[in-house]
Amino acid sequence: MAGDNRMLEMHGVSHVYVNDKGASLATEELELTVRRGEFISLVGPSGCGKTTILSMLAGLFPPTRGIVLLAGEPVTGPSTKVGYMLQQDYLFPWRTIRDNAAIGLEIAGRKNRTALAGVDTLLGELGLPGSGDRYPHELSGGMRQRVALARTLATEPEVLLLDEPFSALDLHIKLQLEDLVQQTLRRLGKTAVLVTHDLAEAAAMSDRVIVLGANPGRIVAEMLIPEEIREASPMEARRLPGFQAVFDGLWAELDAAKGGGDEDER
Ligand code: ADP
Ligand code: MG
Repeated sequence: MAGDNRMLEMHGVSHVYVNDKGASLATEELELTVRRGEFISLVGPSGCGKTTILSMLAGLFPPTRGIVLLAGEPVTGPSTKVGYMLQQDYLFPWRTIRDNAAIGLEIAGRKNRTALAGVDTLLGELGLPGSGDRYPHELSGGMRQRVALARTLATEPEVLLLDEPFSALDLHIKLQLEDLVQQTLRRLGKTAVLVTHDLAEAAAMSDRVIVLGANPGRIVAEMLIPEEIREASPMEARRLPGFQAVFDGLWAELDAAKGGGDEDER
């Protein structure tokens, strides 16, 4: 249908991992739609299936049951329309920054002079001008994550899947990178799914936050972020008067999802 703006969809998605210890239901009956250009976050306790969801969206494996759609088409494997960025930057130490950022292009057989010039432009836009000939060990953690972002963006995916990309960084760097990532993805009109442990990060960066519960992983709540917070940069959003209420709302949902009340760790 013309004007249909659904970019990612999961319908009735359940996933069972099977290994030598048996079978375990990681996610159950997920229903999720992400609009083109939308930025959503997935939050939830460890083990609730966040990475499993991203992997299925990325086409790394099919769900045991249900269907995953990308721009209305069934996902049958990895696609150049989808970029995946992880907590660990996985830069190759023996490759220059430019060659690290160009890996996706190389794999896609699109690494030529024009594409490499594009990589240099991207590195510059991400605050790493002139760094192409340097090596990963010369860079700080925050700079390395920017290279990882450049690598993810270099192949021009329409969708970015971000699995806790900021969680290994110092607070100061993390806040700067949140701003940079949001600004860049917005400017380029990308659709994004961010997994994070950090509720403030989810509230500050997203249009919508999905709260997941564990055992099995399922959606327990969904919160639309108020417009004034959405429009502010993540750094500014945290200072807005309405921010605390959004944070508290997410906290309450997450707490309820975890079983709430007593934290009896066994
Ligand atoms: P999260 O990213 O939210 O921490 P995961 O998606 O990594 O959660 O895991 C969801 C559940 O599936 C957990 O119970 C985890 O132990 C299990 N799981 C994840 N990967 C595998 C695997 N390869 N084999 C078996 N179980 C797995
Ligand atoms: Mg995970």
